Amino acid sequence: MNKTAIITGGARGIGAQTTRVLAQSGCKVLINYHRSKAEADKLAGELCASGFDAGVFCADVTVRSEVDAMTAFCAETFGTPDILVNNAGIAQSALFTDITYADWQKMLDVNLTGVFHCCQSALKFMLPKKSGKIINISSVWGMVGASCEVHYSAAKAGVIGLTKALAKELAPSGIQVNCVAPGVVETDMLSGFSPEELACLKKETPVGRLGNPSDVARCVLFLSSGGSDFITGQVISPNGGFVI
Ligand code: NDP
Repeated sequence: MNKTAIITGGARGIGAQTTRVLAQSGCKVLINYHRSKAEADKLAGELCASGFDAGVFCADVTVRSEVDAMTAFCAETFGTPDILVNNAGIAQSALFTDITYADWQKMLDVNLTGVFHCCQSALKFMLPKKSGKIINISSVWGMVGASCEVHYSAAKAGVIGLTKALAKELAPSGIQVNCVAPGVVETDMLSGFSPEELACLKKETPVGRLGNPSDVARCVLFLSSGGSDFITGQVISPNGGFVI
């Protein structure tokens, strides 16, 4: 694919693997990071050393001016974005009655408002071209809800609603918007789970294993490619049968 992609939270976990897969498919990739500068630089260095086009940009997806600076940098450096992967996210496990307003707001700011900012900012470049692919990373918890993750589930359900509505609005402009809603994927995000809890989640997954970042990245690659041109407003859930 001779395309330009922005991957938010692209330095670690699912985002890093998505970055690799898109770069290997021929995309120029802009790796967005917030705190993980070293990881972002390392990944970009690895990709460039392998002959791929990769760059990094620090932006907090909750801050519109930073997001706008990122999409402008992308346009100047690699070309206007053709693919936007809204992957940046945070999680927190807490009883609903213990969630503070600040916890709630932060969860929505990063996981949902961040998607709003990045979509609006990238669309400034996609709409005039009448083409583009937006892939939003939600979660199975946005589909079915998770106990002790009400704010996370609400934000991720919001991402699904945003995806479906925006897909309808943008389809006449040649832009597809889809969602990938992974099941449990082994990344730093699971660091709060004990080995026993992880074993339990694995047992509950019909294919008998937890997901890995490649399981998700491959779905993103498909939704970024021409093979998905007739697909918009959909939720693909790589979850090993955890949610059917
Ligand atoms: P990680 O915790 O490994 O990575 C989270 C990423 O989000 C980091 O790259 C981080 O960047 C970035 N990020 C967080 N806050 C911000 C911010 N304000 N601005 C920009 N970037 C930010 O998690 P995963 O790789 O597991 O998660 C990736 C996505 O997949 C998330 O949206 C998550 O909700 C979703 N998901 C994960 C599942 C799992 O089981 N792991 C299951 C279902 C969905 P930095 O380090 O630079 O700050």
